[in-house]
Amino acid sequence: MANPSLLILAGDGIGPEVMAEVKKIIGWYGEKRAIRFDVSEDLVGGAAYDVHGVPLADETMARAQAVDAVLLGAVGGPNYDVLDFSVKPERGLLRLRKEMDLYANLRPAQCFDALADFSSLKPEIVAGLDIMIVRELTSGVYFGEPRGIFPDNEGGRVGINTQRYTTEEIRRVARSAFELARRRNNKVCSMEKANVMESGILWREEVQWVHDNEYPDVALSHMYADNGAMQLVRWPKQFDVIVTDNLFGDVLSDCAAMLTGSLGMLPSASLGAPMANGRPKALYEPVHGSAPDIAGQGKANPIACILSFAMALRYSFDLGDEAARLEKAVEKVLADGVRTADLMGPEGGTPVTTAEMGDAIVAALDASL
Ligand code: NAD
Repeated sequence: MANPSLLILAGDGIGPEVMAEVKKIIGWYGEKRAIRFDVSEDLVGGAAYDVHGVPLADETMARAQAVDAVLLGAVGGPNYDVLDFSVKPERGLLRLRKEMDLYANLRPAQCFDALADFSSLKPEIVAGLDIMIVRELTSGVYFGEPRGIFPDNEGGRVGINTQRYTTEEIRRVARSAFELARRRNNKVCSMEKANVMESGILWREEVQWVHDNEYPDVALSHMYADNGAMQLVRWPKQFDVIVTDNLFGDVLSDCAAMLTGSLGMLPSASLGAPMANGRPKALYEPVHGSAPDIAGQGKANPIACILSFAMALRYSFDLGDEAARLEKAVEKVLADGVRTADLMGPEGGTPVTTAEMGDAIVAALDASL
C-alpha cells in the first residue's frame, strides 16, 4: 500500500523554523516506528507571493486537494502589509480553507501540568484541563449575505452582516463534534444564543436532531454562548467537546486557548467532508502567526506545530496511540524543565532554541520505546 501523503506548507516568518522540527518528528516515525509518509513541500503566503505573485498558486491548491493532509506553518509579515487585500498572505490560507471546504475547526485547550502556572487562572482550575472546541468555519455571519456598508435614509450609513445557517451546515459540524466526543469523554455542549436569535433556535434544534437520531449515546447539553464564556473561565473542566458557530467559536476558542498559557503551545485542525479513502479533508496548523518579532532567531517554540502533527496522526491517520506517544513526549520534556523563551517563568533560567526543543522531544520519543 502507498504511504499516506502529506503536503507541507511552511509559509513565512517562524513557519519554516517550527516546521523543521516537525520534519525531525516525521523522520523519527519513519525510522523508529516504520510509519512513513510521502512528504511534499510547497509555498504559501508571502513566500508564494514572492515567487508567483499570488499567496497560493493554482498548482499548490491542486496538490492540497490531492493529499491526505496538509500541514501549514504560518503566513504573513510586515513586508506584505502594503499589498492589496486580494494578494495578502492570509488570502492563501483562506483560499485553502474555502476550496477544501474545511467546515469544522478543532481547537483543543489542553493544559500540561508543568505549565499550569502560566495560566491567568489559578493552577487548580486549569491543571489537567483537556477540552476541545469545534467551531463551524465556513458559514455564519462572516459569510452571510446581505453584507456591506450602505447609506441609510437619514444621511448616515448602515453596516450589515447576516447570520445565516442551513440545516445541513449545522448537522455536519454537529456530527464532527459527536464523533470527537465518542473518542473522548462522550460529552458535547452546544453553544448559541437561542434566547435572542432565530438562527440560534435552529442551531439548537438541529444539534438536538443529530443527537436524537444518530448519537443518542453521547451526553448533549445546550448553553447560551455568553454563559459559556463565563463558565469557561469559572470551571473549564466541566466541558469535554464544545460545538458552536463561526462567530461565537472565534471568540470562545481564543478565550479557552489562553487558559493554557503560551500561544506557542496551541495546535489546531480544520476538517472537511470525508474523501474517497474515508479520510477527512484536513489542514493542520498552529494557532500562532508568523511572529516576525522573533523570526530567524531560533527563539520560536515549535510545540504548537508539533502538536498539530499529533492531531494529524490522530484525526487523519487513525494513529491515536502514536499521537498520544508524541503528546506524552512533549509533556515529559516540559516536566523536565526544558523551555523555549516564551515558556520562561519569573524564576528565569536558560531557554533552549527551537532546534534544541525539537531534539529534546525526539529524545523523549526515543525514551518511549
Ligand atoms: P503572532 O501569533 O505571529 O505573534 C504574537 C506574539 O506571540 C508575538 O510576540 C510572537 O513572538 C509570539 N509568538 C507567536 N508564536 C510563537 C511561538 N511559536 N513561539 C514563541 N513565541 C511566539 O501574531 P501577530 O504578531 O499578531 O501577527 C504576526 C503576523 O502573523 C501577521 O502578519 C499576521 O497577519 C500573521 N498571522 C498569521 C496567522 C496564521 O498564519 N494562521 C495567524 C495569526 C497571525
